[in-house]
Amino acid sequence: MAKILIIDDSKLIAEFGKSILTGKGFEISYAPDGLIGLKKAKAEKPDLILLDIVMPGLDGYKVCEKLKADPDTKNLPVIMLTSKGEPADKIKGLGLGAVDYITKPFDAGELIARVTTQIRIKELYEALQEKNRQLQEMANKDGLTNLYNHRFFHEHLAKDVQRAQRYFEPLSCIFIDIDHFKHFNDTYGHQTGDQILKTLGALLLDSIRASDLAARYGGEEFAVILHYADLETARAVAERLRKMVASRTFRIDEKEFHITISIGVATIPHPKITNPQDLVDAADQALYNAKKNGRNRVEVFNEGT
Ligand code: GH3
Ligand code: MG
Ligand code: MG
Repeated sequence: MAKILIIDDSKLIAEFGKSILTGKGFEISYAPDGLIGLKKAKAEKPDLILLDIVMPGLDGYKVCEKLKADPDTKNLPVIMLTSKGEPADKIKGLGLGAVDYITKPFDAGELIARVTTQIRIKELYEALQEKNRQLQEMANKDGLTNLYNHRFFHEHLAKDVQRAQRYFEPLSCIFIDIDHFKHFNDTYGHQTGDQILKTLGALLLDSIRASDLAARYGGEEFAVILHYADLETARAVAERLRKMVASRTFRIDEKEFHITISIGVATIPHPKITNPQDLVDAADQALYNAKKNGRNRVEVFNEGT
């Protein structure tokens, strides 16, 4: 049920409005002056505010200004209640961010119609925002594994590297690639391969901290950002992941499968890594070495050189 806050120094007007709107199923809250109105708006977050203009102390214009200046209340729709019929007053209220005005003494039908319209607009706006949030989420995620995608990974890494450098914090990046996955697909079929990718994605997500970020970097390649993780911590995480995958039996359609992964690890601070792309290249280089040195292993960038 939609909540409406009436701010009006006239108790009579407020009671009149309340009786009309309560009859239509709205929940009404009341404030007898501007200051109390501001407090209630902030605390109660009503769906709509009916705001009288002429009040002692803070008048309706000032209240409207303050509502619009506060991030907590700036999106609450305001309908001005005015006994002044002058166009200039109406324009002033609309200019301050009110969505509509009603001239007192108001007609019950008009009050209901204008309130209902604004509530409906607010609901549509909120539904649109939720849809946008969902679309944004979809745009950032990979459809198969539901991990973050390549683009989001890069966006995130850029910010994370910047922050780590600014605060002198370690940050690690690990690249994971399934061994001989082409052969796996050729042998068991692409569909089974997809199930492996899905399960591996879920395993990855399960085994990192909530503050870390796992992404599907490409086909059968995954990347993880480990915050505050120095080289030894990252190597330990990678080694744990490698062992977990190697020892795991993947069950798909009542058949059992085994895979191994190779992992490259890179960490900042490092004298040769100055930006996000360097870090990605370094992890990729380490992954390449892991493949070259036999697969099902972890290699760290630049170790021993
Ligand atoms: P390596 O050990 O050197 O990594 O060998 P590999 O065969 O895993 O590497 P390669 O890069 O030659 O082949 C990657 C294979 O991954 C090719 C493709 O069959 C498979 N692959 C990539 N994306 C997908 C996908 O979305 N689904 C499935 N099922 N397989 C994929
Ligand atoms: Mg591979
Ligand atoms: Mg690959």
